[in-house]
Amino acid sequence: MLNINNLQAKIAEKQILKGLNLEIKAGEVHAIMGPNGSGKSTLASVLAGREEYEVTGGDVTFEGKDLLELAPEERAGEGIFLAFQYPIEIPGVSNATFMKTAVNEIRKYKGKEELDAVSFLKLMKSKAAEMELDSSLLTRALNEGFSGGEKKKNEIFQMAMLEPKLAILDETDSGLDIDALKIVANGVNRFKSKDNAVIVVTHYQRLLDYIVPDFVHVLYQGRIVKSGTKELALELEAKGYDWIKEEVAAQ
Ligand code: ADP
Ligand code: MG
Ligand code: MG
Repeated sequence: MLNINNLQAKIAEKQILKGLNLEIKAGEVHAIMGPNGSGKSTLASVLAGREEYEVTGGDVTFEGKDLLELAPEERAGEGIFLAFQYPIEIPGVSNATFMKTAVNEIRKYKGKEELDAVSFLKLMKSKAAEMELDSSLLTRALNEGFSGGEKKKNEIFQMAMLEPKLAILDETDSGLDIDALKIVANGVNRFKSKDNAVIVVTHYQRLLDYIVPDFVHVLYQGRIVKSGTKELALELEAKGYDWIKEEVAAQ
C-alpha cells in the first residue's frame, strides 16, 4: 500500500528526515515510537502533504501512485487520513456540518454523488454510536470547548466517517485518561480491516496493549533505526532509548 524509500525532508532549513524507509501493506498496524524531536510528526505531516515541509529526496508511492506529486486534498481523496489534520476550532460551524463537507469532498473526488441530508445523518449517527462519541458533540461547533479527550475521540470519529485506506494517528493517546484511551483504541480496532492500514505514533507502550501492532519501529534522527514486533515496544518501555542511540552511534 505505502512504500517510503530514502525519504528526506526539511522544515525551516533544518533537515529532519534523513533517509527513511518504510513499507506498509493493507491489513497491517504499524507503531512508530522514538525520542522527542526524532521526526515522527514530520513524517506524518509529509505523508499528509503539509506545505511547510520540503521533501528534499527519496520517493513515496501509495497504491502505486507517486504520493509526493499529489496535493493534500488529493491525498485525502486517495484515502490518507491524518488525525490532527482538523484540530482547528471553527466557531459557528457545527461538527456535523464540517463532517458533511469533508465526507462529500472525498465522495466527489472518487466520482461518487453527494450524500443527501438524510443519508448523511444516518451515516453520522451509526458511526458516532460505533465510535462511542457523545451525540451532543455532533451539534456543537467544531472543537470549540471540547476537552482534550473529546477532541481525540472526535478525531477517531472523523476517521470512521472518512473511511480512509491509511489512517495516521499522531499521539492520539496523549493526555487521555484510561477510559478515553480504551474508547480511542476500541475505535481504531473497529476501524481496522484487511483492506486498510494504520500508523500509530505514540510515546507510550500502554496504547499498544489495546491496539496491538503488527510492527513497531523506532524513528531516531530522521531514520527508522530499528523494527520489530510488539515485544520491541515492551523492551523500549523497560529500557528507554539509550541502547538504541548507542547502537546507532556504533554503526
Ligand atoms: P517528533 O514528532 O518525533 O517529536 P518532530 O517531527 O515534531 O519530532 O520534530 C523534529 C524536529 O523538527 C525537531 O527538532 C523540531 O524542533 C523540528 N521542527 C519541527 N517543526 C519545526 C518548525 N516549524 N520549525 C523549525 N523546526 C521544526
Ligand atoms: Mg514531539
Ligand atoms: Mg511529534
